[in-house]
Amino acid sequence: MKTLIKEIDINEPDKGLIDVFAAMLADGKTVIFPTETVYGLGANALDEDAAAKIYQAKGRPSDNPLLVHVADKKDVYDLVENIDGRAKLLMEKFWPGPLTIVFKKKDIIPDRTSGGLDTVAIRMPSDPVARQLIRRAGVPIAAPSANISGRPSPTKPDHIIRDMDGRVDGILVGGPCNYGVESTIVDLSSGIAMVLRPGSVTLEMLKEVLGQVELDPSLKNKDDNIKAKAPGMKYKHYSPQAQVYIVKANDLDDFAQKVDALCLENEKKKLRTGVMTRSSDGHTYRAIRFDLGESDADLAKNLFDVLIGLDRESVDIAYVPYFEEKGLGVAIMNRLKKAAAYRII
Ligand code: AMP
Ligand code: MG
Repeated sequence: MKTLIKEIDINEPDKGLIDVFAAMLADGKTVIFPTETVYGLGANALDEDAAAKIYQAKGRPSDNPLLVHVADKKDVYDLVENIDGRAKLLMEKFWPGPLTIVFKKKDIIPDRTSGGLDTVAIRMPSDPVARQLIRRAGVPIAAPSANISGRPSPTKPDHIIRDMDGRVDGILVGGPCNYGVESTIVDLSSGIAMVLRPGSVTLEMLKEVLGQVELDPSLKNKDDNIKAKAPGMKYKHYSPQAQVYIVKANDLDDFAQKVDALCLENEKKKLRTGVMTRSSDGHTYRAIRFDLGESDADLAKNLFDVLIGLDRESVDIAYVPYFEEKGLGVAIMNRLKKAAAYRII
């Protein structure tokens, strides 16, 4: 498949270019576009055949539902059965932005999009390119992350072009994504509001608006007996080729000491080692150093790029500290634990 690849200025998106890609979406084609979380692989959410193309391009299991993007809050009313008071509060406070809400779906959403569930996950992105593209396409756009299934989500143009050129009809190249981790998913379709996937809208932020919110039990530990409510969360995810280990340590010195010993072992085995740490870590490791930045927001923004970078540098084995699971740290550690296949030492 020949992929149309065009760069777009995210501050002043060219309307003509948006129209070209919007027409492709309206015509049942697949288009990758930037959002504020990660790049999305989009197609018409109301068209079964178009949605099927997303699964094919990603190599995604067919029971894993797609996330639906709308350009305006009012567009949700056509797609879902009931928008209760809690949903309205969340939409008011966090839309447009990195929060996805799971609603009971109307029949207009095909099974291909919902993965056979009677619910649908919807969000309104804040990225102006994404919003204008969806609005001009005139239909809701199903758009999961634009990675090959199981691999880290793409947050920079070069990630996508390497993996997806030839697998989709179009790629609209913008800048790097602002938040860097995928949206928070909150399920309001039954009883208590439940976070199915942690993201940049934190549990604390949700509690401030809703009062009672819980974390899906499957997120708290790796117990195969607890079924994840977001089907995608059960799959191997965010995995680089390198073996990632999360190192529990009392402080940075303790981390450096533990990692130094591991690096020496790896050197003997002729393994290429990587260490992912904060910028302020001044220790010199006998390994390739990957800078995650400093703040939690930096860590979230840089995480997938660094994971992809491990493979670019042909790293065999990589270490990362166990960051505090508070605020955005919950989302960061959720992605890291999956990338590490829960190898915590
Ligand atoms: P992705 O955008 O690739 O991260 O994929 C979307 C995520 O949303 C996956 O983890 C899906 O399992 C999840 N998801 C999509 N629709 C639903 C739904 N109706 N209920 C629960 N989770 C969903
Ligand atoms: Mg994904």
